[in-house]
Amino acid sequence: MKNVLITGGNGGIGNAIAMAFYNEGYRVFITYNKNTQNIKNKNICAIKCDVTDEKAVSDMVLELDKFGGVDVLINNAGVAQIKMLCDTTQADFDKLFDVNMRGVYNVTKAIMKNMVHKKYGKIINISSMWGVTGASCEVLYSASKSAVIGFTKALAKELGPSGINVNCIAPGVIDTPMNKDLDSDTIKELCEQTPIGRIGEPQDIANAALFLASDKASFITGQILCVDGGITV
Ligand code: NDP
Repeated sequence: MKNVLITGGNGGIGNAIAMAFYNEGYRVFITYNKNTQNIKNKNICAIKCDVTDEKAVSDMVLELDKFGGVDVLINNAGVAQIKMLCDTTQADFDKLFDVNMRGVYNVTKAIMKNMVHKKYGKIINISSMWGVTGASCEVLYSASKSAVIGFTKALAKELGPSGINVNCIAPGVIDTPMNKDLDSDTIKELCEQTPIGRIGEPQDIANAALFLASDKASFITGQILCVDGGITV
């Protein structure tokens, strides 16, 4: 049985990914930071871990090593913010980069040691379409998600010889709590701008993650898979 770790597995997208992998027969571990209300499946092991905290991450990895380590890592935990750049603060910068980039760095660095040892692993980072195209009023968020793309491409080169695939999913607008503040007019506009004609569901991202984790994607590495209904085309 393969082990998968999904950071932020209690969130909208993370929860769908966790359920999809569980249904495929994986042993599923998720992390959460504050909220536990979305964790409903008792067969999924939930570990409290702030991904910005290096010590908390290394404690979590010690726990996971007892189960043979992680075969598939999905760096999904993230925070967003909508603000004009001129209104942002140092604290905003720190928060967005700490969770969205340092979190990916902390967890990946700690987990990959065991993958390198086994010469097998799949690392899937959840970036954003805004990391690809940039979004007005989300400059810091876009920059932090672009950083994840650079991290993915570089690490794919470093870890390819160790049998580890590193890829990225760049979701479009997905119906999760992260977008709870978008009003219905904005959602309608986004649907109109999207060739497929709708916003995404968490399951759309889970399906892409399952594919990238599968042996069907064994020759794919360093890639950014845009799962966005064609909005960035
Ligand atoms: P949610 O807000 O539903 O989930 C975010 C998750 O991140 C939660 O599980 C949260 O845990 C976790 N998290 C936040 N801060 C930390 C931290 N310091 N340490 C550990 N976990 C943390 O958002 P989504 O499911 O929508 O987003 C998931 C990912 O997808 C994010 O990386 C996001 O940027 C990306 N994305 C989302 C899009 C969308 O339209 N929804 C579009 C493009 C990308 P807790 O609740 O316990 O705080």
